[in-house]
Amino acid sequence: MSLDYYEILGVPRDASPEQIKKAYRQLAMKLHPDVAQDADAAERFKSVAEAYEVLQDPKKRDLYDRGGDPLGGGFSGFNGGFGPGGFDFSNLVDAMFGQQTSRGPRSRVRRGQDALVRLDLELAEAAFGTTKPLRVDTAVLCPRCNGSGASEGSRPVRCPTCHGQGDVTHVQRSFIGDIRTTQPCPTCHGYGTVIPEPCVECSGDGRVRATRTINVKIPAGVGTGNRIHLSSQGEVGAGGGPAGDLYVELQVLPHEIFRREGDDLEVVVKIPMTAAALGTEVTVATLEADLEDSPAGAKAVRVAVPSGTQSGTRIAIDGKGVPRLRGSGRGQLGVTLLVQTPTRIDDEQRDLIRQLAELREETRPEVTVQKHGRGVFGRLRDAFAGQ
Ligand SMILES: [Zn+2]
Ligand SMILES: [Zn+2]
Repeated sequence: MSLDYYEILGVPRDASPEQIKKAYRQLAMKLHPDVAQDADAAERFKSVAEAYEVLQDPKKRDLYDRGGDPLGGGFSGFNGGFGPGGFDFSNLVDAMFGQQTSRGPRSRVRRGQDALVRLDLELAEAAFGTTKPLRVDTAVLCPRCNGSGASEGSRPVRCPTCHGQGDVTHVQRSFIGDIRTTQPCPTCHGYGTVIPEPCVECSGDGRVRATRTINVKIPAGVGTGNRIHLSSQGEVGAGGGPAGDLYVELQVLPHEIFRREGDDLEVVVKIPMTAAALGTEVTVATLEADLEDSPAGAKAVRVAVPSGTQSGTRIAIDGKGVPRLRGSGRGQLGVTLLVQTPTRIDDEQRDLIRQLAELREETRPEVTVQKHGRGVFGRLRDAFAGQ
């Protein structure tokens, strides 16, 4: 044995099985007698096939690496053609085309595909969780044939073309021997059986499309883009195979007053100028106000506004935001105060404000310029974003 199998395939001695397979596939395609023009191509093709037979088999490769003769005195495949027990050409076909060769009939029964549906939620539903009915349109088991695909009283019979094998073998003669290729049977598509009288309801597929309503449990704290996974609620497979999974993708609708920032809820409240100056207490609705069955006391919070509050001030109330989907507790309710300057004032009010201005020496006020940065204005801009 003088052949260096590694050199023939052009791979290093520590080549991985993938490298060996790839090198073989490239050489086999180049040197295959059907395509190669060179006179010595057939000889080289034989060497390449021999090298591959040894190196793709861990046991033979190990023996070869230790100086043994893994083919036991000759390369079986080329001694007298391709008899039984000879070189298995399906290795070549596998290597060239991937796993295209089929072996035996395949089952009509297959797992169904996963399905994706979208579901719109109100903010309170997403925040506190709910159970929602959802209409889904998927393939379901055919009620008439129960998935068999055959009409009542009939059953699938053995395919006359492949005699139940599911595949058909073509033999192509070439000067290095016969090349066998195996393909799925065109009559039965590889099933090995044919349905002479298909079910009229499903045309032999074993499943039909149907709309049904399922109740989807929405956990508290979900947001737009979250998906709920419902196993085995997707499409039923062909031949009555097990159903795939159903994914429900959630979309939270915008709310009239609350804006959600992660687990926080933001709300903007207007207060009169005098209240901001003197200090006050305001009542702010919480998201619980959207829930009919929440206790009255939970539907609003009292918020103390200190005297001298500036427009744009945000007061954070812990534990009144959105419940955390992972973990415990809730985010904040952020109340941003917008101080309202009076627009319509009568004579008496104008006199009082003028007196106040004189007392505060603000009749000719000096303006100070606000520097850039996130202060009141940044917060106000954020508060109004998307409103
Ligand atoms: Zn049917
Ligand atoms: Zn067939």
